[in-house]
Amino acid sequence: MNDDALVFQGGTLVSMDPERRVLEADLRVEHGRIAAIGRGLPTDNATLVDARGLHVVPGFIQGHTHLGQAIFRGLAEDRELLTWLRERIWPLEAAHDAASAYWSSMLGGADCLLSGTTTIQDIGLVRHMDDVLRAVVDLGLRAVAGKCLMDEGYGVPAGLVEPADAALAEARALHSAWHGAADGRITTLLCPRFILSCSTELWRGVVALAHELGLPVHTHLLEHPSEEDEVRARLGMGQLEYLDSLGVLDTQLSVAHGVQFDARHRDCLAGRALGIVHCPSANLKLGSGIADLVALSATPGVTVGIGCDGAACNNDMDVLEEVRLSALLQGVKNGPGRWRAEQSFALATIEGARLLGLADKIGSLEVGKAADLVVLDLERPASFGPAGVAVYDRIVYSAARDQVRRVYVAGRERVRDGVVLGVEPEALRRRPAEEIRRLLPRAALG
Ligand SMILES: [Zn+2]
Repeated sequence: MNDDALVFQGGTLVSMDPERRVLEADLRVEHGRIAAIGRGLPTDNATLVDARGLHVVPGFIQGHTHLGQAIFRGLAEDRELLTWLRERIWPLEAAHDAASAYWSSMLGGADCLLSGTTTIQDIGLVRHMDDVLRAVVDLGLRAVAGKCLMDEGYGVPAGLVEPADAALAEARALHSAWHGAADGRITTLLCPRFILSCSTELWRGVVALAHELGLPVHTHLLEHPSEEDEVRARLGMGQLEYLDSLGVLDTQLSVAHGVQFDARHRDCLAGRALGIVHCPSANLKLGSGIADLVALSATPGVTVGIGCDGAACNNDMDVLEEVRLSALLQGVKNGPGRWRAEQSFALATIEGARLLGLADKIGSLEVGKAADLVVLDLERPASFGPAGVAVYDRIVYSAARDQVRRVYVAGRERVRDGVVLGVEPEALRRRPAEEIRRLLPRAALG
């Protein structure tokens, strides 16, 4: 817990509160939480942050990441989803050891922080999950994370296949060890990878464990059309229908992608809650398509968030770029004017928090919530806005990560002017490169 009080003075607060207030006000932080918002707040015993001319916004939330893939950037190009996994990503992930998992996660987590991301939902690795979580703690991120669960599948290397009961036992042990760690910044969940790498037995075990421990479930779903084709050939039904038959839709479920979600899926969902994490860069790069955010957002029960996915399909973890793409692509998908910049900004803030079930703690600037904050400098030529231009338009269409001046998680400063604090910059440059050099011979890519 960080006990230092802070007062952000003179900035413009983009609150994302229920009234969506944008206000000229100070913001006081005590014990890692937002203690007061208003003009002329007391500054006793507080460190002052001069926010004049700057915008203070909620810390960004990425609903789908793979920190364990950060050191694979550039090693899996020019493939669509299933060959990308089988020929590159799975062999690379199977070759991880503790050190490579840790330094990949440090690299990916730093990339997230530098664009203003304060919370991630990470779908994890099959092995070395303790090392991924150690990196999250060392960086100071907030995370919902779990071990990636896989127990079968065409093209899955032996190193990633575990018996369902062993995989679930390790997920249970991770929950015991990590849930609520780092002053509550880390919580756990269950992460079956996707239908083509998980047996019916594993899905049933996930549902039982989710109910027993009260855990959310996160997976990949309806990403590329080929995924649905393979599932239908193997199981004789569609992906959502299959998960429904196993009770997965009755857990607190969020899925990455949902590109292929259509009216049939809406009928199958029947109003039950489902989080869908939009990952536009990954969907474009792997040729999966463009999710219809207008339709998804209008679907009863669906909450939409946003994420970068992994650096091997993106190729970076810049949430501001995803937010911008999410808005631009809806112009192509639905025509200009059907989707507003404010909605894209919400994906990375309050809607992202709702998707994670954390809307009472993060996602907006409101008294009592965690002091997860980003200080943005919009007073640059790139994001100039005449009086009257909505701040959401300036941020979503114009802001880039070099305009992120400071990032705070639970009131502790984690980024200042493009530098991740508390991490040795030389180590962050050198160690990931060393680890991927050692890992590649172990992966023996074809
Ligand atoms: Zn993913």
